[in-house]
Parts: sequence; C-alpha cells; structure tokens
Amino acid sequence: MAGLISRLRRLRHSDQAVAAHVRETLTQSLYASPQSLVIGAMTSSVIVVVVAVISDRAAMLACALAILVVAGIRIVDALRLFPLLSKDRASCFGGKRQELLYRFGALAYSGLLGTFGFLTLIGTDDGDLQLLAVTTAVGYAAGIAGRNAGRPWIALSQLCLAAVPLALGLFLTFEPLKAVLALVILFFVVAMMDITLQTYGVILRATVASTEKTALAEHHAAVARRDDLTGVANRTAFRERYEAQLEALIWSEESERQGLAIYWLDLDKFKEINDSFGHLAGNALLSGIARRLDEAFGIDGIVARLGGDEFAVVCAIRDKEEAIGIGRRILDLVESPVHHDARHLNVSASIGIAIAPADGTDADTLLKNADLALYRAKDSGRGVMRFYEPVMDEKIERARDLAAEIQGALGRGEFYLVFQPIFNLNGGGVQSCEALLRWNNRRYGQVSPGEFIPIAEGNGFIVQIGGWVIQEACRTASQWPNGVTIAVNLSPIQLRSANLRAVIVNALAASGLAAERLELEVTESVLLEDIDGSLGALQAINLLHVQTTLDDFGTGYSSLSYLSKFPFQTLKIDRSFIADLDQSSASVAIVQAVIDLAAKLGMRTIAEGVETAAQLAQLRRTQCDAVQGYWLSRPIPASMVTTMLAGETPNTGCRASPGASPS
Ligand code: C2E
Ligand code: CA
Ligand code: CA
Repeated sequence: MAGLISRLRRLRHSDQAVAAHVRETLTQSLYASPQSLVIGAMTSSVIVVVVAVISDRAAMLACALAILVVAGIRIVDALRLFPLLSKDRASCFGGKRQELLYRFGALAYSGLLGTFGFLTLIGTDDGDLQLLAVTTAVGYAAGIAGRNAGRPWIALSQLCLAAVPLALGLFLTFEPLKAVLALVILFFVVAMMDITLQTYGVILRATVASTEKTALAEHHAAVARRDDLTGVANRTAFRERYEAQLEALIWSEESERQGLAIYWLDLDKFKEINDSFGHLAGNALLSGIARRLDEAFGIDGIVARLGGDEFAVVCAIRDKEEAIGIGRRILDLVESPVHHDARHLNVSASIGIAIAPADGTDADTLLKNADLALYRAKDSGRGVMRFYEPVMDEKIERARDLAAEIQGALGRGEFYLVFQPIFNLNGGGVQSCEALLRWNNRRYGQVSPGEFIPIAEGNGFIVQIGGWVIQEACRTASQWPNGVTIAVNLSPIQLRSANLRAVIVNALAASGLAAERLELEVTESVLLEDIDGSLGALQAINLLHVQTTLDDFGTGYSSLSYLSKFPFQTLKIDRSFIADLDQSSASVAIVQAVIDLAAKLGMRTIAEGVETAAQLAQLRRTQCDAVQGYWLSRPIPASMVTTMLAGETPNTGCRASPGASPS
C-alpha cells in the first residue's frame, strides 16, 4: 500500500515531465481502439436500462438515462477521431483539449455507473438486479484500468468512481456477506491501481523510445537531404520537391499561379575566387548567396544547391513578366558583395530559365531545357539570364555532345594531322609545312577545327590534344629533309600551361627533330590577354631554340608595339588582307608596310590564304618571304608531303605547281 502511495506521488511529477509530443501520443492511445469503447458503452447501457426499467425507480431511471446520453456522446467522439489517427492526420488531433474532453466523458460515465450500482444496492432488494449492476460496474472498472493506462490519472479516477460507490453501497446494506464483498472490491481497486501504474510505466517507456527513434530517423532524413555547406536543399531533395510541385501544377484545375519557373544558376568565374582567395572564401561566398536566395524564395518556392557553384530556384509565377522580375532579383542578390575576412567578395551569375508547363511537363525535360538556356546565358557573357527557346536545342546539343565526345577522342585515335606546305618566294621550294589538326568522330564524322578547337579550349582538353599534335608533328617532320621546318598552332591555353616546356622537350627528344626546325604559331589575342605571361612563355620557347610565329597578324588589335616587344621570328599576315589584295590598293599598302616593318625588325613574313595567281604576283612584288594557300597547296596527308618533298608532283588539289617555284 505504501509502495502504491509513493508511486502515485511520483506519477504526479513524472506525468508533468512527459514531453508534449509523447503526451499527445499517449492521449491518442485513448482513441486507438474505438471498438472496445463502443462495446463497453453499449453493453453497460443496455444492462442499466434493463435494471432501471425492472426496478421502476425514478432515481435509477434518471441515472440510466444520463448513462445513455453520456455513452452516446462518447461513442460519437471516439468514432469521429479514429479516422484522423488511422489516416496519418494526427496533426488535426486536438491534443490537450481532446484529453480534457475524454477525461470529462470517462469520469462522468464511470461515476454514473458507480452511482447506478450504489442506487441499485440501496434502493432494491432484488438480488438479480444487484448482481447485474455490481458486475457491470466492476467489469467496467477492470477493463478500463488496462485500456486507459496510457493516461493513468483518467484510468485511476475511473476505477475509483466506478468501484468505490459499489463498496459503499454494499457496506450500507449492513449484511455481513455483502460487507465481505465490499472489502474484496476495495482490495480489487488497490490491486488494479497497481497494475494500471505498472502498465503505464511500460507504455511510457515504449512510447518514449519509439518517438525518439522516429525523431532520430526524421533528423537523419533531413540531414541527408540538406546541402552540407549551405544548408539549403541538396540535389536529391530538390528533385523530389520539384517533381511534387510539378505534379501539383499539372493536376491543379484552375490556379491563379499559372506556371512554375525553374532558374538554373551558375556563378561566373567562381573558380577564380577560390583560386585567388582560397576555399574558405569560396565557401563563404556560396553560403552567403544560398542564405540570401533562401530568405527571398525559400518559403514559397525551392532553393537548392545542385553541386559546385550551381544553384536552382523554383517559383510559381503568373506570367513571363513576373518570371523576368524574379530573374532580375536573383541576379541582384547574387551580385551584392559577400563579406568575408575583411574582404568584399563579388560574383555574378548566369541563369537559364525554363517554365512549366510551356517548356515541358516533366522534371527531366524542364531541367534539360533550363540547362540549355543556361548554356546560352553563359555564352552571352556574364550576369545574364536567358529563357529556354526550342531553337536552342539542336545547336547547343551538338556542342555539348562534341564536348563529351572530345574527351575520349585521343584514346580512340580519332585525331590525325594534315600538313599545308609553305613556299619560299626566294628559293621557290617548300620551306615549311603547317600541321593542321583533323577530327573524324565516330558519331559526327569530320568535325572542323573551327568548331572543335573552341570546345576543347572550353573544357581544357586542348592542352592534352595540343601536346599530342606537337609530338605527332615532330615525329612526322623528322622524316623530312633537314631544310624543311614544321609549324604547329598553339592555343592560348597551351601557352599558359605549366607543362608546355616539358611537352616540347619530350617531343623533340622522342623524334630526334632539331629544335630549330620546330615553329610554334600563336595568335595576337593571346598577347593581349596576358602580356607578361605570354612574354615569359615565348622567351622560354626561344631559349629551347624553338622558333615562334605571330599568326593571323592584322585580325586583332594589331598593335605594332608587339612586334618589337615579343620575340617572334616570323609574322604571318592574315588571309583577310591577302583576299583583298586583288581589289584594294589600301590592302596592298598595308601588306607592304607590314612586310617592310617586319624586315626592319629582322622578322620573316608569310602571307596565308593565297587563293589566286594575282595575289601571288602581288606578294612577290611586295617582297613577302613566303606564301601559303589553296592556290599552291591544300592541307595534305603526311605521305603526300613526303612525295612532294622528294620532288615528285602529288595531287594537292591546287591549280599552281607547288613543286616548282610558285609563279
Ligand atoms: P590557322 O592557324 O589560321 O590555319 C590556317 C587555316 O586556313 C586552315 O584551316 C587552312 O586549311 C586554311 N587555309 C589554308 N589556305 C587557305 C586558303 O587559301 N584559303 C582559305 N580560305 N583558307 C585556307 P583549318 O585547318 O580549318 O584550321 C582552322 C584553324 O584551326 C586554324 O587557323 C587554327 O587556328 C586552328 N587549328 C588547326 N589545327 C590546330 C592545332 O593543331 N592546334 C590549335 N591550337 N589550333 C589549330
Ligand atoms: Ca596557324
Ligand atoms: Ca592563320
């Protein structure tokens, strides 16, 4: 008994300490099995009505009526709430208010049952009626102790309210046997209280463990769907939420919001911030931008980091005007500086936009289209947004396919070189050949260098491919007579690459070609981008005794100051001037001036793109040193070069006779 009292005391404290969500689960357990409540309420109501009617006593009839009303209310309440629990809509459950309501009904019902038993015991002498009333109340009390143990105060109160009036009624009959039964009922109450408390302990522990497990699982699930660095949704979560929003959009009958826009962002030159200020600065920038986007669009839409410096924002929109406004806002948010380590970090973003349902109705199509739009945005310069347009598909997709294909092209042996002879106008013969790269792709066939070289420069593969060109060109030229040199085009990216020197040295060593027989052609644009870097690289090349040629002279800014500043041995006049030689006296004057200046600076000159006899004749008059062009020879395979150099006449696809002095 003392144990029971101390457990009751503890219960008062421990029940208050139970976390709200655990208490909510326990309260829900009261409604978990409406059948038992309905059966209990119906059977006991039927019995009390029968007993009251037979006894024909007003008090008992009134009590039976009250029991019927309360039973009815409780049945309706239980049946109303059960579907909410079973359909996982527990959030609609009323919590504390509901517990109060249940408690009120339960206590009223138990109290009325106990009172009815009491009235039967003191108001009638009919042993059968007394038996019915007592067993109904005791049976109810026994059942309730187990059923409602999740909310022990309710169960204990019900137990007492149903059973104690019976004991009192039995004592008041002043019959010895009934007094014994009254004592038994009181012992029974004490025993049932003990059982209720023990059952409660077990239920509580199980509920706490289960809710903790659920909370942990939810926490893990949330972490797995969040981007570690920025805290916004990651790619997986983005995909799920985007698909769900699309589905809602497609299925919604008539919505004020008519479209769902996805903004695919890529930060411009983010890599440079990372390289110049370090990863921590890069991370701070990504986090800062993610936070801003999330604050602006995360509540109604989706903000996600798709990896690296790519983000996605999804927003419901009414029309294109609104979509443009959101795009501008995103650009502004990205462009305002992020403070880190006493520095202002600035970037801009390129944005590709696709709008559902106009640009697609499934996530794959929309993402692909947003990506195509992004590709075009990046192509148009920095800080630009572009909407998806169907015509983008074909051209951009070819460029992207080629970018993917180029990665394995070297390994598959799809590249080869052709050589275009360069003729000396003084001696007449072939002084050199320019190595020109060709790509025969397994899917696209012949792809022109004008198309694939910018792609290879874009993804950096040009360094590897260019290395192969140098090696292959040296190997081929090593088979030619000593007087013939080989010219190889260098991409700006190759010129800046750290391993250029090693590539050249290895190619020369492997082929046995003398360094003086290798000429590297670079275009003017390279020099403009990075004057000091280019100068250093060119000097390093010259130190190896390898020659350098300024290619396409006249196409860029054509600053004559380059000519004295940079160590070029040869200057190649761009074919646009040569094409005009026939018609324009201005072009003649320019070419003449360039050739004279080059001669004064000790440089040789080559005119490229010679297509007619008249151009050739004019170049002779202007004292150009060498010529190259379709009039003399198209680019030809190595085997034909060998034939040509041996003094035979191969079919070079040109009208002039290249073997002899071009005239
Ligand atoms: P480029 O260095 O100016 O090369 C000369 C281009 O003019 C070649 O085009 C050649 O076939 C073409 N050509 C030669 N004679 C004539 C002519 O009389 N008339 C006309 N209209 N064109 C003529 P190709 O082979 O298509 O190469 C285009 C460009 O691709 C080259 O221009 C060069 O910038 C680049 N390239 C080619 N091979 C390589 C390489 O191995 N590495 C790098 N980095 N770039 C290369
Ligand atoms: Ca060239
Ligand atoms: Ca050229």
